[in-house]
Amino acid sequence: MDEMKGKTMNKKSDRLAGIVLAGLVLAVSGCRGPNPSCCDAPVLDTVTQVSSYNGLLAALYDGVISYDKLAEYGDFGLGTFDKMDGEMVMLDSVLYQVDFNGKVNVMDPSLLTPYATLCNFKADQEIKIPAGLSYDEASKLIESKLKNPNTPYAIRIDGTFAAIKCRSVPAQEKPYPPLAEIAKSQSIFEDNNVQGTVVGFRYPKYAGALNVPGFHCHFLNDTRSFGGHILGFTTGDDVVAKVDRCTRLNVYIPDTEEARKADLDRDRSADVNAVNRSK
Ligand SMILES: [Zn+2]
Repeated sequence: MDEMKGKTMNKKSDRLAGIVLAGLVLAVSGCRGPNPSCCDAPVLDTVTQVSSYNGLLAALYDGVISYDKLAEYGDFGLGTFDKMDGEMVMLDSVLYQVDFNGKVNVMDPSLLTPYATLCNFKADQEIKIPAGLSYDEASKLIESKLKNPNTPYAIRIDGTFAAIKCRSVPAQEKPYPPLAEIAKSQSIFEDNNVQGTVVGFRYPKYAGALNVPGFHCHFLNDTRSFGGHILGFTTGDDVVAKVDRCTRLNVYIPDTEEARKADLDRDRSADVNAVNRSK
């Protein structure tokens, strides 16, 4: 902790200290159980999350921790960048941004994020997905096969998509508009017969204020020229989902001035539905 205090020389470090401290407090309080190995970190089967989806919906878009500080917590994940600058996909430890124009960029891990969900992906179940299923149908099929629907899961789906629709959003300026407003001016990208990888998480409904309840998925094609936050798809051939059951959740709670003032308790489920899938 002394080392952390020594870093509180400027506003950025102060924000970081606040968020790391919040993460540590959670980890320490989670430790006082009968099994002391519960909090060995970083570990497999742990989802690490920066802030919450409710935080994004409440326009908390200032980056609070850099991706390189999160590196040991995940080689697989999704999120965004400081100021909500595009969609983030982390796949096999490479940090990608799908920008507002649909371009896929490899990003410097020193960049900050206001929101991310990560894990060290290790599949413990494989599920074949038939061709012709929609995003909702594929999600339901995967859910029906999960061994423990009460834990978060990381979901990786590889294969060909007969059709896929993704979006990205532009970097925002203060005062930040709520996510539901930004979603109205999002860029939408559609393509057919795309080979690629879905990078997603499935949260139980009871954890729905932390992340999108149900499936939250981003996408990258194999040639790294198309992707974003998935709004919908139709599966094609050879689609296989690999799932990683995660029994631990490590949450970094932002402690910035804006975060202290934000109303994160409000029921934002209508906003979540509005911004996450195509109708
Ligand atoms: Zn997303």
